Amino acid sequence: MTVDVDAVVIGAGVAGLAAAAAFRRAGRTCVTLEATGRIGGRAFTDHPATLGGSPFDRGASWLHAAERNPLADLARAAGIALSETRGTWTRRVLIDGRAATEAELEAYARAWERFDEVARARAAAGPDTSLADAVADLAGDPWLAQIEVWESTLIAAADPADFSVQDWHLNELAGSNLAVAGGVGALVARVLGPPAGTVRLATPAQHIAWQRPGGMVEVTTPAGTLRARACVVTVATGVLRAGGIRFDPPLPEAQRAALDGLPMGLLSKAAVPALTAERFGLAPGTSLSRRVADPAEPAMFFHLWPQGRPHAVGFFGARAAWRFAEAGTAATAAFAREELVRLLGGDAADAFGEAEVTTWGTDPAFLGAYAYARPGCMAARAAMDTPLAGRLAFAGEAWCTDGLAGTVGGAFLSGERAARMLVG
Ligand SMILES: Cc1cc2nc3c(=O)[nH]c(=O)nc-3n(C[C@H](O)[C@H](O)[C@H](O)COP(=O)(O)OP(=O)(O)OC[C@H]3O[C@@H](n4cnc5c(N)ncnc54)[C@H](O)[C@@H]3O)c2cc1C
Repeated sequence: MTVDVDAVVIGAGVAGLAAAAAFRRAGRTCVTLEATGRIGGRAFTDHPATLGGSPFDRGASWLHAAERNPLADLARAAGIALSETRGTWTRRVLIDGRAATEAELEAYARAWERFDEVARARAAAGPDTSLADAVADLAGDPWLAQIEVWESTLIAAADPADFSVQDWHLNELAGSNLAVAGGVGALVARVLGPPAGTVRLATPAQHIAWQRPGGMVEVTTPAGTLRARACVVTVATGVLRAGGIRFDPPLPEAQRAALDGLPMGLLSKAAVPALTAERFGLAPGTSLSRRVADPAEPAMFFHLWPQGRPHAVGFFGARAAWRFAEAGTAATAAFAREELVRLLGGDAADAFGEAEVTTWGTDPAFLGAYAYARPGCMAARAAMDTPLAGRLAFAGEAWCTDGLAGTVGGAFLSGERAARMLVG
């Protein structure tokens, strides 16, 4: 089957749906190819039976930097309730099995201010280096590893020793952090799905011949070949780095080098049914963690009863997450329960059910959570700013230079921008 359309979009995540809608608004015909059986990509609200059907965002769960995040306005226009989370969480941190005192939490807050000051100064002064190197002078501060866990292994899904301090600085997520009633994935499916038009599910792009005669791009799938005048590829850098799509001719050296500079980090989640808020005397929305001595130490950061839902979500990232991804979901689920018991005390063991675990690191459609820039590689995010041969563009969370890299807001803006460049 050969079909001719104005534009073909590869991937029906946030970037792909935004690109497809932009093509259609410009009066172009567009088909979107999606490898999996659903739209939304890494924005996916699930309702697993193990969590009693309560909404669980396996991927994105907040609208970060909401003042600059186009999805916040789209949600409001659709009448979807948003609630501010910044400053609303009760923080509980354990040190050697006991709750940190007010004075210790105060020291934690001061350590964080110093961290920000030192890392920002180093990012501004250059040359680029790793986040770990940038804050090396703070070694000895008992809170340093804990702050690195938050700023690097959780927010960027990256090991601080392999993460560009300039990329960290550019993509700091200041401002409102909004929770979405019903979940971020549900918002994306409801608001971005319809304007995107035709999406062919379970139809992976296998091969893209992007210099065909007549200015055409040919995209081969198991269901046939699509011919288009323009193509936007929105798959994760992990998929591109693994050769998940073959390009003919191969991508130019500059673009391949950019991919090397933007590997996928991993953030994993384990959602544990937790129906007993009262028993522990902790408020819904409490954040619970234990102070670590090394950012590579496997330790989970929990968000308890988020938005009043009857579960706790444990997060961990980077090296520890990759290690558990290899070990499998049963090992991760067991670790999540062990961590909760460690954080809440031995009598907590019977209070939690089986954990529901995410698998972004091993799913071939993603191969990670989101891309981070290695030290010296921040410029790689701009490597796809010009369409190849005037017809092949790349979009997605990795290719953002506007300070929203790694987020649904950044993915949306990059998808719209790619389509605009190709429409001319
Ligand atoms: C655990 C986790 C937590 C996160 N938390 C947040 C958060 O709170 N806030 C936030 O803003 N962001 C968060 N993110 C990041 C956010 O989800 C992503 O930045 C964003 O969803 C990426 O969108 P995208 O369109 O660039 O890529 P994707 O969503 O990956 O879309 C690409 C699509 O391409 C498809 N695809 C892959 N290969 C092929 C192929 N060969 N052919 C056709 N289709 C293919 C994929 O199935 C996918 O649907 C989180 C991500 C994860 C994993």
